[in-house]
Amino acid sequence: KLTAGGKGLHPYPDWAAGTPVPYAALVKTFTLIEATSKRLEKLSHTSLFLRQVLRLSPDELLMVIHMMINRLAADYEGVELGIGESLLMKAICESCGRTMQKLKEDHKEVGDLGEVAMKSRNTQTTLFKPKPLTVASVHAGLKEIATTKGEGGQTRKVGGIKKLLSAAKGDEAKYLVRCLEGKLRLGLAERTVIVALSQAMIVHEAEKAGKKAPSLEQMTAAESILKEVYSSLPNYEIIIPEMMKVGIMKLKDTCKMQPGVPLKPMLAKPTKAISEVLDRFEGKQFTCEYKYDGERVQIHYVAPNASTEFPTIDKEKGIAKIFSRNSEELSPKYPDILAALDKWVQKGVESFVLDCEAVAWDREEKRVLPFQQLMTRKKKDVAVEDVKVKVCVFGFDLLFLNGKSLVQETLADRRKLMYKSFTPVLGEFAFATATDGQELETIQSFLEESIKASCEGLMVKMLDTSESFYEPSKRSRNWLKVKKDYLAGAGDSLDLVVIGAYHGKGKRTSWYGAFLLACYNPSSQNYETICNIGTGFSEEMLAKIHAHLVDFEIEKPKPYYIHASGNMQQPDVWFEPKVVWEVKTADLSLSPKYMAAKGIADTEGKGRGISLRFPRFIRERDDKKPDDATTSSQVAEMYNRQDVVMNGVNGKKGGA
Ligand code: ATP
Repeated sequence: KLTAGGKGLHPYPDWAAGTPVPYAALVKTFTLIEATSKRLEKLSHTSLFLRQVLRLSPDELLMVIHMMINRLAADYEGVELGIGESLLMKAICESCGRTMQKLKEDHKEVGDLGEVAMKSRNTQTTLFKPKPLTVASVHAGLKEIATTKGEGGQTRKVGGIKKLLSAAKGDEAKYLVRCLEGKLRLGLAERTVIVALSQAMIVHEAEKAGKKAPSLEQMTAAESILKEVYSSLPNYEIIIPEMMKVGIMKLKDTCKMQPGVPLKPMLAKPTKAISEVLDRFEGKQFTCEYKYDGERVQIHYVAPNASTEFPTIDKEKGIAKIFSRNSEELSPKYPDILAALDKWVQKGVESFVLDCEAVAWDREEKRVLPFQQLMTRKKKDVAVEDVKVKVCVFGFDLLFLNGKSLVQETLADRRKLMYKSFTPVLGEFAFATATDGQELETIQSFLEESIKASCEGLMVKMLDTSESFYEPSKRSRNWLKVKKDYLAGAGDSLDLVVIGAYHGKGKRTSWYGAFLLACYNPSSQNYETICNIGTGFSEEMLAKIHAHLVDFEIEKPKPYYIHASGNMQQPDVWFEPKVVWEVKTADLSLSPKYMAAKGIADTEGKGRGISLRFPRFIRERDDKKPDDATTSSQVAEMYNRQDVVMNGVNGKKGGA
């Protein structure tokens, strides 16, 4: 049996200690991980390979981890893969000496471009034996491809891909192409890699010290330490070298949250009624805040020459940066916020991380504007003097202050510190309007007020005890959202990926007239269809959407699109998964035509998925990546919470 401490060894033979990790060894591990659907087996393969890396090439551990989660650097460094299908096809043709027509035929038959590349490569006769790929050479090649920009960039990208493919052997071409596409499809969640790393490290440390294998308690302790450290400091580039230096058990003492490394934000669960909020928080202290409708921003600040020093920050310069909910850097979009910090950050505040919402602000009327206004702001290279849509920052949580992390403090305490550290300045900075009233009537009228103030509704949060600690990256029951619009409907809107479209009719023939949307299933890493949508669009919008989506057209659905087949209607065009839309729905029902949460919600075993009835387009969510879309289990949860399902109205569970 394969266990981290057990007998089964990783089947790839050892390479010479101190030499680069062969790419073939990583690929062998990938094939083993992909071949099993059992999480524990995936975990064992991963951790056994990591132990081998730790034993033979410990300096390459960081690179190996990044390659396993298909990332080249920390999120906020903006080095991204996700190369389009047409560019990849061009590179495969050129490096494997095949015609585009033949390649397309194969693609049609096989579906997975990675498999096609592997097949093309393996049937090609080569005169020279290429030098074997190493993890380091692949990593460097990928980084160069991802960062190539400017004139002739596409040609250089193709050149880089060809170079890698020409040296690929066996299964290597398959994973290279998938990695370039941005989807490894191993069914290996980042969480599993973190657990595997903790296991590998603690076993390795024991072996190195000549001690006996670690106990289950020690393994569990190591796992929770690594998880905790990663949630406050999501950057392997800092954590891994430190872990190698001090050992995993001491990691918490030296690897702490620090400004400059964005936290994955805490998220909220949707609710359908204020009574649901009261049920959840019964007997607890909670608070209600306006839910502002703008863009979530995390402001990170360290004053020049601050008394606390941070290893990655220049002491003399300090930092002032803004990050999105996706940990992308937004400083070039909001230089006006950074320029105004002096006005509202109190003297004596030397470092902080503030969780807030940037909201469009009407200078004349002195009130917030709808989200649509914020959308019109330029995204890059904004000069403060050119800013047309002004924003006001609404602070709602303080995560770090003067050298100390606050995530393990109660919200009541974090809030007190926030109120003390900043000063509201009209149109620049304000604290989220809040009430600590606990009665139904108070909350009801607070909700009405929030809507009048152009907000989306309320956020209701646990206020004291450890339940109110800040939980990075978690959609927590300790934060609930109540959106006025949705109280009678599904409880919340959904954020869905546009994967296909239908040509328009009549006046709309030059554009797409309707679209096929999908939710995301993080365990299988597939996109599952959920509805067609054709309402909520003006002609002007359709023209714009067409211009935006046309570049992402692909010839056939990706192998990781789960959609109805057979004689069910198919879209006229398919897209790369790039664009996320927020969509409102009247309700959710079961349908054989759609695949969302298939196998979860249909209790009658008819294999139906969940679909949206009367979906309406609200807006594009360009702050979300396709993998941040509403998940299949969230969809199932929404479906199951509907009155019609809960009460079995009309004697039926769900619609048809
Ligand atoms: P959506 O924004 O569509 O509700 P989401 O997935 O972006 O969904 P949620 O956790 O569902 O995020 O809702 C919380 C979001 O609401 C935050 O990400 C933030 O942008 C925004 N927000 C506005 N006001 C507040 C507030 N007072 N407290 C926390 N979040 C707030």
